[in-house]
Amino acid sequence: MMSTIKRVYTFGARKAEGKADMKNLLGGKGANLAEMCLLGLPVPAGFTITTEVCTEYYENNWQLPAELMPEVWAAMKKTEDIMGMRYGDSENALLVSCRSGARSSMPGMMDTVLNIGLCSATIPGVIRKTNNPRFVWDSYRRLIMMYADVVMEKADGLEPADGRGIRKQLDDLLDDYKHKKGYKSDTDLNADDLKYLAEEFKKRVHSSLGQPFPDDAKAQLEGGIKAVFKSWNGKKAVSYRRIEGIPDEWGTAVNVQAMVFGNMGDSSATGVAFTRNPATGDNTFYGEWLINAQGEDVVAGIRTPNPLNNETKNDQNSHLKSMQEAMPSTYKELCDIRDILETSFKDMLDIEFTIQEDTLYMLQCRAGKRTGTAALNMAMDMLSEGLIDERKAVMRVDPSQLDELLHPICDPAAEKKVNIFVKGLPAGPGAAVGKVVFTAEDAVVWNRKGEKVILLREETNPEDVEGMRAAEGILTARGGMTSHAALVARGWGKCCIVGAGQLHVDAASKKARVAGSDVVLKEGDTITLNGTKGNVYLGAIQLMDATENPRFQDFMKLVDKSRTMGVRTNADTPADAKIAREFGAEGIGLFRTEHMFYGEGSDQPLFLLRKMILSEGVNERKVALNELFKFVKKDIKATMEAMNGFPVTFRLLDPPLHEFVPQSPEKQAELAKSLGISVQAVAKRGETLHESNPMMGHRGVRLGVTYPEVSEMQIRAIFESAVELIKEGKDPRPEIMVPVTCDVSELDFTKKIADQVYAEVCSKFGIKEIEYKYGTMIEIPRACLLADRMAKSAEFFSFGTNDLTQMTFGFSRDDIGGFLNEYLDNKMLAADPFQTIDQDGVGQLIKMSVEKGRATRPDLKVGICGEQGGDPASVEFCYKSGLTYVSCSPFRVPIARLAAAQASIRGPR
Ligand code: PEP
Ligand code: MG
Repeated sequence: MMSTIKRVYTFGARKAEGKADMKNLLGGKGANLAEMCLLGLPVPAGFTITTEVCTEYYENNWQLPAELMPEVWAAMKKTEDIMGMRYGDSENALLVSCRSGARSSMPGMMDTVLNIGLCSATIPGVIRKTNNPRFVWDSYRRLIMMYADVVMEKADGLEPADGRGIRKQLDDLLDDYKHKKGYKSDTDLNADDLKYLAEEFKKRVHSSLGQPFPDDAKAQLEGGIKAVFKSWNGKKAVSYRRIEGIPDEWGTAVNVQAMVFGNMGDSSATGVAFTRNPATGDNTFYGEWLINAQGEDVVAGIRTPNPLNNETKNDQNSHLKSMQEAMPSTYKELCDIRDILETSFKDMLDIEFTIQEDTLYMLQCRAGKRTGTAALNMAMDMLSEGLIDERKAVMRVDPSQLDELLHPICDPAAEKKVNIFVKGLPAGPGAAVGKVVFTAEDAVVWNRKGEKVILLREETNPEDVEGMRAAEGILTARGGMTSHAALVARGWGKCCIVGAGQLHVDAASKKARVAGSDVVLKEGDTITLNGTKGNVYLGAIQLMDATENPRFQDFMKLVDKSRTMGVRTNADTPADAKIAREFGAEGIGLFRTEHMFYGEGSDQPLFLLRKMILSEGVNERKVALNELFKFVKKDIKATMEAMNGFPVTFRLLDPPLHEFVPQSPEKQAELAKSLGISVQAVAKRGETLHESNPMMGHRGVRLGVTYPEVSEMQIRAIFESAVELIKEGKDPRPEIMVPVTCDVSELDFTKKIADQVYAEVCSKFGIKEIEYKYGTMIEIPRACLLADRMAKSAEFFSFGTNDLTQMTFGFSRDDIGGFLNEYLDNKMLAADPFQTIDQDGVGQLIKMSVEKGRATRPDLKVGICGEQGGDPASVEFCYKSGLTYVSCSPFRVPIARLAAAQASIRGPR
């Protein structure tokens, strides 16, 4: 029985069966081609084979469904009628392209074949009609190259040795031929040359791939369609999906479209453009184009493309004619189309166009990829232009891109007052000020001396990596946006400018000359880079934190308007608390007490903690605790002060004590002296603390059960700090959190201590009440199962998803590195569960705990403080699970705020 599914959607002549909101079925490209037709734009006619057919193809054991090709030929008929040509016709042949198009764009990751339909039956007619044999043979040799590469080799799963693929072989044939003839460029090849090459190509294809290049238009099209479907599972596409989190089952659509030619002579051209600048977000039309070329020439970098307009010329292409200069009326038409598209799609678009003998055609439009800076600037511009509303503006910035916006930038007011020294390409955003050094080694050495440096190189290579890391910013005279320096810098979120062509760098003499001037830049000279714009300035320009950037501030205000879930921070020091407040944290969700025993300034408290740990008996321990008390209280008080008016969740001491046992003989001797015991006795006491499985050993609440005086000291520090702050007119909001609990009895045990200390502190300070909350971390599956009972004593839960993930999977959080990659490679895990919450397993426990907990205590506050709290996908999950807040490291706070706002906009809980 024939199925009634519609598999092919046609478009052309201002009509279309699809439209923009059918991306799931038609892929982004197909849906937007349809929409452009509906907008009345000049789009060559064609049709889209749906993504569902891709799924059918794979389910059907890599076979096209029987019903497809009849539907394709019916759609081809419509295309032929609109274009006034016939596919495979000997006099008036229609040629087509066959392109992929997934739901979300995967630029360059799948395959395309152009000029399909050229064969011995159609070539003579096309030559007669165009009167341009050179063009026809050029198109034919391109078809052979693409078809052999994509359809006959890649799609057939042939894996030639590196550099021996058919494409490379044909490229080499072409190069050898040009060399033999003394030609410099492809455009030197005449019709006879190209015809000869096409024959040579076919011979090579046959001998190399074992089958002839198909000389039949129908077979070519069917092969092209299958190849596009197969390319969905090509290596590049699979890795890209993994990185971008695109599901494998989405599939790609196939777009078959009448060819128009940009390589028909000097009145023909092809180009790609962005409706606004994708690096900065500036509202300027930005693109590249080439006369007498096909689209692949622009993207493949074979020829240096010309700038689209005069406004966006740069040092590398300013000598080339812009389209604005060379084809003013077509350029004007393209500008009008830009306006129509932006008004309709209400977004920045990436477009592809071709001009065939002075007639402009639109081949593609899609939402353009952009940097974080550009995303933010465009969202705010489009909001003020009235193109989008506030909620749309919030959705326009990807939370993971926000990171790059948190780097320091040049103060715009200061920047306006100075002249640009030289310009390059904006490869890594943000700004950097430093002294110029000319070698990677110098960058490392100077950096060690505490100097901030800018590494200036002719171009960078992998050996420079150490120096690049040590530098505040990187500047190169050569290289493009995809050069090594650019890629590395972007990966690190480091400020970087490449291709500042006016600089002539001489690393040997440690000098750089500026072309056309006497200015010489020497080692040690201070310069400023604006990596977002590509501007280099002499001297130091005032930088400002991204948080002070008014654009960023305004955007975050919009974010908070849409946000309903709270965002707190994990901070253990007053300094971190301050930073987190600047990033918009609404309190501290996790203050790890033990962090005051690590790092800077920890010597004395660590010594006292060790003394406490190695004490024998309550009395000895209490002496050490008394000495430790003032340090603990100082940090607690200062942190609550920094978070004035916002809650601070203090977690009682958690880690296994043996982590703090001193190993070095000097430290052991010092402790022995202080405790009045021998060094051997110190070592012995340390040994008794050893555990076989410390993660499940004497840690968390268990420490307080065996040594109640330890909990008592911490709780006293919290209450006394709160009272003192109240007396100073402040508004402290302490919360006491008990870690690693598995039973309500542990909470009750600790609460008794808290009640006793509370009464003592109130009476000592003569006050009636200290407002505080008492709660627990939920880190053990048993606590989740018994959440209804835990909530009898706990006023809040905070999911410690580091431990909860460890305990649920049975994967050690410290040892997962040894096997994680194999789990990811074999698709046994979709992501690292310690970075993104495992919604299937750990997520179920979280949901269950929230439900059970709130059944006991409807106003139970619930948060998360594991590492996943700053991961956008996990934030969305927390929102859907009804959490009151997420808590994450200070620098991730804006990311979590945005992810939480976007989750609210996407839908109610
Ligand atoms: C947790 O387990 O998720 C947590 C926040 O605590 P820690 O990482 O300190 O064990
Ligand atoms: Mg924990």
